[in-house]
Amino acid sequence: MVTMPVDVFAELESNVRSYCRAWPAVWSRARGARLEDEDGREYLDFFSGAGALNYGHNPPPLKRALISYLEDDGVLHALDMSTRAKREFLLRFDELILRPRGMSYKLQFTGPTGANTVEAALKLARKATGRETVIAFSNAFHGMTLGALAVSANPNKRRSAGVPLNHAATVPYEGQIGEADSLAVLESMLSPGGGLNRAAAVIVETVQGEGGLHAASASWLRGLEAICRAHDMLLIADDVQAGCGRTGTFFSFEPAGIEPDIICLSKSISGIGQPMALALVRPDLDLWAPGEHNGTFRGNNAAFVTAAAALREWWADDGLSREVARKSAIVEEALGGIIAGEERLRGSIRGRGLLIGLHSPVEGMAERIAAGAYERGLLVETSGAESDVVKLMPPLTIEDGELAEGLRILGEAASAAAAAG
Ligand code: PMP
Repeated sequence: MVTMPVDVFAELESNVRSYCRAWPAVWSRARGARLEDEDGREYLDFFSGAGALNYGHNPPPLKRALISYLEDDGVLHALDMSTRAKREFLLRFDELILRPRGMSYKLQFTGPTGANTVEAALKLARKATGRETVIAFSNAFHGMTLGALAVSANPNKRRSAGVPLNHAATVPYEGQIGEADSLAVLESMLSPGGGLNRAAAVIVETVQGEGGLHAASASWLRGLEAICRAHDMLLIADDVQAGCGRTGTFFSFEPAGIEPDIICLSKSISGIGQPMALALVRPDLDLWAPGEHNGTFRGNNAAFVTAAAALREWWADDGLSREVARKSAIVEEALGGIIAGEERLRGSIRGRGLLIGLHSPVEGMAERIAAGAYERGLLVETSGAESDVVKLMPPLTIEDGELAEGLRILGEAASAAAAAG
């Protein structure tokens, strides 16, 4: 009897799976900016685990640190008990990230997802202020759990909740209403008679990773901070995707010089794709009772080991930040060339640092480009409520030759998509 090959994933895995539909390869191995499928075909990865792999796949110094910890029977799971791995991470984060920036925050290890650090931030803001509403922005994305969804804008994602998403108010992000001043709208809504009660907090992404790579200007972020201070509302920076060096600086808001009250970090904090998330909390806001925001997997010690190694490797000086700025300029130039060479794209550049991409208002164009890139061996995803932005997130550590190769493939995919209409 001949047995037919079965798509195990389609057969056995839930319909909820998504990335594997656009990229049906069965992945086998990965190193740096390259992924290999089980048939031995290589792909360049400009997706980087949706921002969870800023230092590429299996970065050698992190892999070595983890292997040596495992060889030594280091504790892997410990809820929020103290371990030597956690102590090393706390010390390095304090030494290499907080102190050099003159920042003072308590570190809260939340459940190991971006959504859970957002949930923690929302809860804490509500507890600290005694208010319920949190202000969020058009095109924001903060996660798929109910609290995080309530402050997210994507209609399809919101619909998945199945219950009303309450205690949130959405206001326009910078650029959402053309040249008009979106902060003036927020000010007006908060003024007497404006209809919006003072909120517990405002939650913001400095670059909207899922929402179409809209990047807020430094002056807009400073204006937003000023509104928060004037109305005594907390400012939450969701740096889950834009943080850990993605835009150049460790925190994406550093160039703006703002001081958020709570900062959400996840994705690339472990540096190797191990689940981990943090809420950085202004010390006087650390009002939690013990165990008030709990979770079994808040102590992923494998992640603490690699996270500390990543800080030692890449954040002891500003070398990586300068590299991101240099590579971002290369990407911008290449995108500029693609846009100038293909009028039919009606393209423009979106984003900042290495969270950057190509917007095309032509229906389906960005998706066609991403599909064509995959056929040619390059992983890029689309972003935006209408999937109208090709989002480039190469590893920050990518070699110049690989960056150029990926950009060349992207150019070919863009030409082919434009030619197809
Ligand atoms: N916040 C932002 C800005 C994100 O980009 C994401 C994930 N794309 C999240 C929160 C949610 O993170 P997670 O998928 O790990 O729950």
